[in-house]
Parts: sequence; structure tokens; C-alpha cells
Amino acid sequence: MKLFDENINTAKDLTEIKKPEFLKCSECGREILKELVHSNLSTCVYCGYLFRVPAKNRIDMIADKETFIEIGAEKTSTDPLNFPDYPDKLEKAKEASGMNEAIITGICKIGGYKAGLAVMDSYFMMGSMGQMVGEKITDLAEECTKQNLPLIIFSASGGARMQEGIISLLQMSRTTAALNRMHDAGLPYLSVLTNPTTGGVTASFAMQGDIIISEPKALIGFAGPRVIQQTVKDKLPEEFQTAEFLLKQGMIDRIVERRELRTVLAQILSLH
Ligand SMILES: [Zn+2]
Repeated sequence: MKLFDENINTAKDLTEIKKPEFLKCSECGREILKELVHSNLSTCVYCGYLFRVPAKNRIDMIADKETFIEIGAEKTSTDPLNFPDYPDKLEKAKEASGMNEAIITGICKIGGYKAGLAVMDSYFMMGSMGQMVGEKITDLAEECTKQNLPLIIFSASGGARMQEGIISLLQMSRTTAALNRMHDAGLPYLSVLTNPTTGGVTASFAMQGDIIISEPKALIGFAGPRVIQQTVKDKLPEEFQTAEFLLKQGMIDRIVERRELRTVLAQILSLH
């Protein structure tokens, strides 16, 4: 009987053993094992702070097991403006995330109800919206219209992708038009805002939902608070641009805890 495996007993192999990765909580400052964070719905085990959720993990949290069928996984941005260093940045983002774009789109079941599901990933170039993000949302909205399905979009975005200039801004009207066609067909669109939902996404599909839900304490806004303060030359309210503030102003319908999102979405889908 062998007491150890000689195949992993070289110095070289030892350096390849994966070091544990830690995430630092922005609220309480504690460092927590990455696996522990992700197995706890990306929530801090000490203070309940909500970490940003990679799109794939979010789909696991929301969709019924093994029901998610991805659409357009191969789609990826080109470099339409020959923007300096953009192809490099795209490659790095793809490598780090295992995704081709800042959004995953597909059809799934939630609590047994079939729906279109799109999830943005803020770890991929800050979840910025370029041509392909717009195209994938448009394609999914059209597929939902064809199949008579409701649509849910989880937003997490820093805004339009500046490396694609005007082409990324065009995606605001493109996605809005596709969602309007869904609306005309009588199909519900549920928008779920997560931290952060800012810029061009907020000025288009994220705030267009028939029902708009947000996770607690999410930052939601178009321009940053500093820019606004300089423009209006007045002090901003304390909670300005948080989900809680927007709820008070009637801009969103409900704040839902992360662990309850799946149940709440299933309840809403059951009405369709
Ligand atoms: Zn914490």
C-alpha cells in the first residue's frame, strides 16, 4: 500500500496547490473565505453585507436546478472603434470570468414557471453595456415575445461601455424598443436592481420594468453623487441613490432580501 502519491510530491506541484482566496467585507472589514461567501448567497457571514454576485452564481440562486438554457453564449464584443487597449481588456475579462460578455441570457424555470432570465455581471468590465450586451437583451426580449414568456433582468452595471462610444449609447434605445414590443404583446418584464446599477443601464431597461425590485442598499443612479452635487450646487439627502431612498420616492416597487428573491419572483410569475 502506498502511503502517499509520489505524483504530487515534487516542489513544482506543491507550488501549484491552490492558495485559499479571501474576500474582504466592505461593511465590517473582515476577511472571509471566498467559498464560504459564495455558499452563503454571497452574503457576509458576520454582518449580512451583500457582496456582488457573479452572473453564474446568481443563475444558480434563482433558476430551478438544471433548467437554465443559455442563448447567445458565443456573442462577444468586437472593437468597433479601434479603441486603445480594448481588445486586451476584453481578453482579460473573459479569462477572469469565464464569460464572453458582461451578461448571460437564457430561458429557465423559477418555482416551476418558465421565463426569460438575463443576468449582468459587474465583475466583467464593471458590467458595462456595449453592443453585445444590448444585442443579447434584445434577442432575449424577442425570444420571450415569440414564446409568450415573461422576462426578468438582473442589472449590475457601471453604465455604457466607453470603449464602444456612441455604439454603446445606441443600446439604450435598442433595448428599450425591444422591451416596448414585449409590453405591447402583454408580457410582463420584471427588473431586479442590484449593487451597483448606474449610468446608461439606469437610463434605459433597468428602470423600465413593469415591476422594479431592488436588493437592499443597492446603489442606483445615473451620474455619481459628486457630479450631481457640483451641478445642483446643493447638499444631497443622506440616503441619496440608495434603493431605500428610491423606494420612498416611488421610483421602485419593493426591496427584497437576497434569500427571498427566488420565492418573490416565482410568486410574481405565477400571476402571469
Ligand atoms: Zn461583513
